[in-house]
Amino acid sequence: MDHLEAASAEFDSLWRAMMGKGFNFGSFHAPVWFRFDVVNIDYAKSSWMFEAGQLLLDHVEVNVLNHITGRWSFSQQAGNLVPIHQRPVGHHSLLFPIDLPPGERSTIYVRVESVLGLYFTADIWQNEAFWRHDQQRTLLLGVFLGILVVMILYNLSLHIFTKDRNYLIYSAYVTAVVLYELAATGLGGRYLWDHNLWFRTNAYVLFAAASFLTATLFIRMFLSLRVYGGWLLQLNNVFLIYWVGATFLFPFVFSKLFFDFMQLVALLSPVAGIVTGVYLWYRGNIQAKYYTIAYIFLSVGTIILMLGYSGLVTRGLVTDYSQVVGFVVELVLLSLALADRINRERVAREEAQVVALDLSQKVSKAREEKLMVQEQILEVQRRANEELELRVLERTRELERAMNNLEMANKELSRLSFTDPLTKLYNRRYFEEILFTEIRRAARIQQPLSVAIVDIDHFKLINDAHGHLIGDECLRLVAKTMSQHMGRSGDLIARFGGEEFGLILPATSETNAMVVADRVRAAVEGIHFIHRGQRILLRVSIGVAGCIPGRDQNPEALLSAADKALYQAKRAGRNRAVAANG
Ligand code: GH3
Ligand code: MG
Ligand code: MG
Repeated sequence: MDHLEAASAEFDSLWRAMMGKGFNFGSFHAPVWFRFDVVNIDYAKSSWMFEAGQLLLDHVEVNVLNHITGRWSFSQQAGNLVPIHQRPVGHHSLLFPIDLPPGERSTIYVRVESVLGLYFTADIWQNEAFWRHDQQRTLLLGVFLGILVVMILYNLSLHIFTKDRNYLIYSAYVTAVVLYELAATGLGGRYLWDHNLWFRTNAYVLFAAASFLTATLFIRMFLSLRVYGGWLLQLNNVFLIYWVGATFLFPFVFSKLFFDFMQLVALLSPVAGIVTGVYLWYRGNIQAKYYTIAYIFLSVGTIILMLGYSGLVTRGLVTDYSQVVGFVVELVLLSLALADRINRERVAREEAQVVALDLSQKVSKAREEKLMVQEQILEVQRRANEELELRVLERTRELERAMNNLEMANKELSRLSFTDPLTKLYNRRYFEEILFTEIRRAARIQQPLSVAIVDIDHFKLINDAHGHLIGDECLRLVAKTMSQHMGRSGDLIARFGGEEFGLILPATSETNAMVVADRVRAAVEGIHFIHRGQRILLRVSIGVAGCIPGRDQNPEALLSAADKALYQAKRAGRNRAVAANG
């Protein structure tokens, strides 16, 4: 249906009278025609502009009928489906220039089409007045959006430096709000996504949903809802899930039911936010106090905007920008609260650090004390060990001394047991031991071995004549003299007992032994022992026996042979040596 049909008498009965400047038919409504009469009573001006407010309008068509001339103006089109450059005025608002000659009555026919929200306002501007007003609101908007962009950059940099996720979520929230405002004011459509049809029609809903999503996420973090848990967290979870779904799914489940439901949730979301804030404020959460106050500013701003659109309050800069101002105040307050929170957390952390430091100092002190005690214990142990070692050493030395003494005593004892006390020669026992050993050795290496038995001649007479003491002296003299004339180192002389002596001559044949025997005899004969001016004559008789012994050589037999030879020497006149086999 075009404007000519709409204006025809056929549809005349279908027009309804309406009051006010705002009209709301909800979403997914069929296109609607509006018409209203205007008379220009300002004779100086004829250039005017009709402005269709609200941004969910997909297509707006304006036709003006001049009742004086009866002519229709050119049909003009604008709306989200029409790119800026195809609109009658290249502006983000939906503007339609109309020529209103002074004093003449015209009727403006407006066809409005919108899927998401058939809800719009109508204004007629005098040309210059519009541009003045437009400059003002663009400037205001620029200032507010500028503040918000600064907040984004500031909080993003804080996030980068502190790695605190609160700043990131806050930045995302402000970004979503800025994009929403760009969509809501048309500036985004004009400067950012004019070339993209999908964005021109969906940006508003997309960024509104994204704002709700980030706001829900922000309250979750900002009020530490996860710490509180319970119904607060569950309420937040429900809205969070819904807004995640709405943000990412709404283009795919595009229906009236979904969209109306979304609007309902959009109303409930702030209510839930306020309830949460007030409840936590009541419970003493300082963050919740800031949050609630900030949110009240946004809510008041939004309510004023809605009142303006509904026509209950006269629209103007105040109503149109109350929500932006509400956002700016809310977001600045929240930013301050965030900074305050971070500050308080930092203070709490520092206090905790002080406590931790104190604790760790105490712990390290306790550890030091423990170490000291351990060291002392070790020292005591070390000293005890040293003392013990010292004592053991002393005892060992004592023991060694005792052992040495014992050994020396043993040696002395054995020496004594082998020695004849009068002459200091070996005794008969030792003589027999050595003889046994020497016979075995001689038998092994098949060498000759000789023995001799020496007996002092008529010794009884010496004793009788000079006394026993002199006799003893004579025995010592004979022993000493014989020892001095024995010759080889291996030779051995022993006192058998009384005035009898035994000789062992290893590696000596009987013949050679006779030489030794005679030398010994001669030496004794040569002793000049003077007693009371009188020389005591000392003579010895010697019996010699020698052989190359066999393995079974009996020492007694050899001695017996020597003894027999001695007997022969006595018989033959004494003072001589006689060989057993000679
Ligand atoms: P013969 O030439 O036949 O050997 O005559 P003799 O007197 O030497 O032999 P006899 O066996 O009759 O005497 C040995 C004497 O030696 C007897 C004893 O008084 C003396 N006599 C033995 N042992 C000792 C001693 O230790 N000291 C002293 N002073 N005399 C001793
Ligand atoms: Mg004798
Ligand atoms: Mg004798």
